[in-house]
Amino acid sequence: MKKLELHWKILIGMAFGVLFGLILSFLDGGDLFIGNYIKPFGTIFINLLKLIAVPLILASLIKGVSDLKDISKLSKMGGRTILAYLMTTLIAVTIGLILVNIIKPGESISVNTRNELIEAYSTDAKTKQESAAKQRESGPLKALVDMVPSNIFLAASNNRNMLQVIFFALFFGIGMILLPGKKVKAVKDFFDSFNVIILKLIDLIMLSAPYGVFALLAALVVEAPSFELFKALALYAITLLLGLSIMIFIYMLVVQLFTKKKISFFMRGMAPAQLLAFSTSSSAATLPVTMECVEDKLGVDKEVTSFVLPIGATINMDGTSVYQGVAAVFIAQAFGLDLSLTAQLGIVFTATLASIGTAAVPSAGIVMLVIVLAQAGIPEAGLALIFAIDRPLDMCRTIVNVTGDAAVSMIVGKSIGKLK
Ligand code: ASP
Repeated sequence: MKKLELHWKILIGMAFGVLFGLILSFLDGGDLFIGNYIKPFGTIFINLLKLIAVPLILASLIKGVSDLKDISKLSKMGGRTILAYLMTTLIAVTIGLILVNIIKPGESISVNTRNELIEAYSTDAKTKQESAAKQRESGPLKALVDMVPSNIFLAASNNRNMLQVIFFALFFGIGMILLPGKKVKAVKDFFDSFNVIILKLIDLIMLSAPYGVFALLAALVVEAPSFELFKALALYAITLLLGLSIMIFIYMLVVQLFTKKKISFFMRGMAPAQLLAFSTSSSAATLPVTMECVEDKLGVDKEVTSFVLPIGATINMDGTSVYQGVAAVFIAQAFGLDLSLTAQLGIVFTATLASIGTAAVPSAGIVMLVIVLAQAGIPEAGLALIFAIDRPLDMCRTIVNVTGDAAVSMIVGKSIGKLK
């Protein structure tokens, strides 16, 4: 019998996870059983993926940059990558804003439901507001300062500091390019081998993916809030999902236009990464698999992926951008606030910056949303309105985040002749 492809296995794992979670949520103590005996395996799976993220970024970026041999190649690829990322982000926020202004999901929320939601989720919202306050206590150039670590070991000890690790890796790689090949050979050979080993570890971790996603989804089902809340927020969720789907459609179109590759080729190649993004809600945790898919299935050269993807996972979050636009205006609508065009343009600006600053981990988007809300003068307490369904929507926006990175890799790859 032909071996089942990985994305099918993951999909089956997800389906069984949901089914198992549903069945056990009807049994006495079922949720406790899942929490105690099933969820830990999902956590182990995510931890394994996260464990590999920092070494992967270090190894692949240092190897990738030092392979480039001259600085002009790096600046050519770097310029195109940043431009493409910025453009997709702007498009994403704009789509979010247009949809939420047309559909107006916030106006369907009654004052009663609004108060109930705020009451139920105000503590959760407070926690996020506090983390956002920490990020905000700073001048306008704080993000830039944060990018430069003062200690690489400290930076590498926290998955939220990915940008600092990227900075170090790029800096190190540039140093290697500037030196004669003979002098850096030993270090280069070391990182080449290190990279191969990390890739092998990813293969090993992925063997457990179907079981990992089974555990993650079973736990998610038993922890889900009541159906009533879902109903109240349905129109908001539909608006956001529509925006996310439009983004996927745009990627398919752009990839086909620029690279002449079939849409089905792109989507089939990315399926394992997308399913994993959905199950883990983290672009950073998905990065190892995104790299594998883009190289092996989509045929983009390592020289491109090792540079474009780690940076994309950290700064390019188109799904999160659509979300920032939709959620901010949704909350304003629910509070009966009319946002002027200037206020909405302000949202485009802050949401773009916020999505760059969002860590590639679950729920990071909602923390950054606080900053967008504050900037636009929308009550931060409104965060509580969207809390109930934030996790499933986070899962969906993470799919878009990783798909956007892959699309940009293909385009950059094509533009410099590094696409098979
Ligand atoms: N979970 C998302 C990611 O890792 C970020 C977000 O919360 O929007 O890409």
